[in-house]
Amino acid sequence: MIRMVDVSKVYDNNVTALENVNVEINQGDFVYVVGPSGAGKSTFIKLLYRELKATTGLIMIDDFDLPQLKDREVPYLRRRIGVVFQDFKLLSRLTVAENIAYAMEVIETDPEEIKQRVTQVLQEVGLADKADRFPNELSGGEQQRVAIARAIANNPHILIADEPTGNLDPNTSEEIMALLETINSKGTTVIMATHNDQLVNSHVHRLLEINNGDIVRDEKEGTYANEG
Ligand code: ADP
Repeated sequence: MIRMVDVSKVYDNNVTALENVNVEINQGDFVYVVGPSGAGKSTFIKLLYRELKATTGLIMIDDFDLPQLKDREVPYLRRRIGVVFQDFKLLSRLTVAENIAYAMEVIETDPEEIKQRVTQVLQEVGLADKADRFPNELSGGEQQRVAIARAIANNPHILIADEPTGNLDPNTSEEIMALLETINSKGTTVIMATHNDQLVNSHVHRLLEINNGDIVRDEKEGTYANEG
């Protein structure tokens, strides 16, 4: 359901961040994307949700042909994809419930439906009692749970997580990992870029290692030691 064929990305400054990448990811896969800093992980991930356009090559996501996708059609792709970041990217002036509702309003217009879904996803991430808090009243782990709730609110096929535990302590990272695995077990594809080799090695999944713009390793059950 995700397919890249001969994908390259060259930035305006002539840096080649990815070169001739070929990969297939099936619905329901859990995939780590690892590699040293500057390897091309973020570029790989941003191509998937069309934050960036490939310079050459084919990217298919479900029935979306990304090189052919017009800018005005990007919102349809984004409905299929939830994204979570290292720094959470919550809107500080909105409550937890409002942050999630805001992400839904583009798609769902019935306020009652939105309210029910917000309650449901907050239960799924274990934060039903924090709906009316503001982000700065929550711990880092709680903020990441809100970000995950927001990312899954529209029932995406794919959840992309770019260093989701980068700002979290080991115990909290474990909890976030368990949550991502629960979401994956219900059929959502999870693609997670990470430096956290402890998590990668204790929760073994498919592993794509990127180095110097190439996928140098694609293992069904890979382990990893990062550069330190
Ligand atoms: P990673 O996420 O693995 O650290 P990136 O995908 O961010 O790697 O970067 C891959 C390469 O592309 C690096 O050499 C980086 O300096 C370069 N790069 C990333 N973003 C840009 C950009 N916006 N403009 C120019 N070069 C970039």
